[in-house]
Amino acid sequence: MITLQEFLEEKVRLPSPKAIAIRILEAIRKDEDSFAELANIIKSDPVLTARILKVANSSYYGMVDQVSSPGQAISVLGTKALKNIALSFVIFDAVKVTQQGSFDIDLFWRRAITSAVAAEIMAAEVGFRSDDIFVTALLQDFGVLVLFLSCGAAYTEVFDAKRISGSNLQEEETKHLSFNHTEVGYQILKSWNLPDTICEPIRDHHSPKKPGQTSTAGLVNLADRIASIYHGKESNRRSIEARMLLNEHYGINDEHALELIDTIGIKAREAIELFAISPGEMKPFSQIMQEANTELARLNYSYEQLVLELTQAKRNAEQMAVELKKANDSLRDLALRDGLTGLYNHRYFQDALASQLESSKRYGHMVALLLIDIDFFKKINDTHGHPVGDTVLQEISTLLVKLVRNCDIVARYGGEEFAVILPETGITGAKVLAHRVRRGVEQHQIKHGDIPIPITISIGVASSESSGAEISRSMLITQCDQALYEAKHNGRNRVEVASGEMKEKSLV
Ligand code: GH3
Ligand code: MG
Ligand code: MG
Repeated sequence: MITLQEFLEEKVRLPSPKAIAIRILEAIRKDEDSFAELANIIKSDPVLTARILKVANSSYYGMVDQVSSPGQAISVLGTKALKNIALSFVIFDAVKVTQQGSFDIDLFWRRAITSAVAAEIMAAEVGFRSDDIFVTALLQDFGVLVLFLSCGAAYTEVFDAKRISGSNLQEEETKHLSFNHTEVGYQILKSWNLPDTICEPIRDHHSPKKPGQTSTAGLVNLADRIASIYHGKESNRRSIEARMLLNEHYGINDEHALELIDTIGIKAREAIELFAISPGEMKPFSQIMQEANTELARLNYSYEQLVLELTQAKRNAEQMAVELKKANDSLRDLALRDGLTGLYNHRYFQDALASQLESSKRYGHMVALLLIDIDFFKKINDTHGHPVGDTVLQEISTLLVKLVRNCDIVARYGGEEFAVILPETGITGAKVLAHRVRRGVEQHQIKHGDIPIPITISIGVASSESSGAEISRSMLITQCDQALYEAKHNGRNRVEVASGEMKEKSLV
């Protein structure tokens, strides 16, 4: 890796400034306003004279009277301003080279000129007096140009690395070259004897001593940020950043910031023409803003649209989930419930009893079972008709559910028979419950029109407890069914308990 010194001595290939440039530089170094001397220097170069007059008469300065001589130009623009203009032209000409590989020299100068204009306008705006601000800003990235012209492909790599890593240029330069463009620019311009008021801010423009402080370096840096709106990618982001900077560091409100940026664009376009460079892709700020707004509106629209669609989709999905659950529930219910009474069906009863017996084994609980049969139901059908029989079945079903506990499972076992599974219930509890149910049905009044339909039920009771050892589902049902049979046999409207030991007379 070569040092800055080696680079400057061995690599830099720059045409040395023309004699006239040296004379202007000398005139600039002199502190006093050498009116006559400068006029003479300019007059000695007809091309420069023509360009200076063009500048003086341009809309850039907007003079009312026609300026027709360098002397007049000096009196109108001031010696210092004219020195700077002349110097800008001379240096610009000294390194005026055509396209170098991937490096767009015209773009470089367009941005440099825009930066110079921005620096001048911003200096006036914040009341910072500096005669050199235009040329300082113009030459701030002079080092970049020198590096491109001297290193070519090697420097392109630095730019590529910067683009890839997203880091800043100085960082990448230091990594690849051990020095950066601000130092190169400073050293070369210094060797051309440019004053420190120009060279030092160029050296410091990426590291103003006190950020935000109004200094030449700070303004030059700000000017380049504004210039990047017109000549860099992502104009909108850069415009937002510049406006924030203007607001935070210079207290300029956004409306005025927009005005300033717009003015800089207009003036820069004029200045670029004075340097005889095509304005290229330089869009007016209003157009940049319009494009940004259009893009923003498009993004906002699609963003809002997206949010709306997502919200709607979420709502639909939730609604669908609710409906699906309902549908599943009702499907499951359809599969598990009896169509006429709404009670669990026989199949469910069998499964539920199996799982209750299973957990009774595992946890040592008891399970009891009631089998209920309506007494002389056939007579009800025969007397009142089958539909009334159906209604009675429905009403008894509802009643049964009310009469048992919440945890009990009431099922339609078949026809006019019902089964009630009593989880965690021993024989005594089951018997008590059975009596309550029997009584409840007996006391319940069912009417067909005005005609009462007295209903009684017979109940068989069995429990896993009663058999002592493990009991199978079918055994429990059989025992319970036998108890029911006995209840019928013993006169109906009765409760009978299955197990021999526990069996006792029904307590009517
Ligand atoms: P018991 O006291 O001995 O039980 O006499 P029962 O008449 O109730 O018994 P049985 O088994 O002789 O008759 C049951 C009757 O229940 C026969 C049948 O027509 C009727 N049944 C069964 N399912 C339904 C139904 O869904 N709707 C109606 N209305 N009647 C039904
Ligand atoms: Mg019956
Ligand atoms: Mg029956």
